[in-house]
Amino acid sequence: MDCLFCKFVSGEIPVGKVYEDADFIIIKDINPQAKNHFLAIPKRHFKLLSEMNKDDEACLGRIFAKISSLQEELCLQNGYRLVINQGEDAGQTVFHLHIHILSGQKMGWQPA
Ligand code: AMP
Ligand code: ZN
Repeated sequence: MDCLFCKFVSGEIPVGKVYEDADFIIIKDINPQAKNHFLAIPKRHFKLLSEMNKDDEACLGRIFAKISSLQEELCLQNGYRLVINQGEDAGQTVFHLHIHILSGQKMGWQPA
């Protein structure tokens, strides 16, 4: 499968990993939309939340818990925003589910 994020996960394309465990990796977004912009990428490839199996659901729960524990590493102390783009209308451009982690500044609400 020709998937950029699968290649980051496997190491086929080298990328700086801020964090890694059995479930997922965290990298810095190449085009940051906030002072700090990370991407949490599950190791198993799937595009949409609607495609998750039971293992993926449990995995995503662990991922959210771990993200919230990485306060210093991800600069979460003053609050943060998590975004998951799903499909065309949301502007999803990489079709391997990922969670945007935005932090380090006050953020407005930008619906479109
Ligand atoms: P989305 O639009 O929700 O699919 O998000 C895809 C994200 O991947 C965007 O924020 C991109 O800036 C980011 N991205 C694309 N290519 C790379 C890359 N080579 N390294 C890090 N982030 C990337
Ligand atoms: Zn993938």
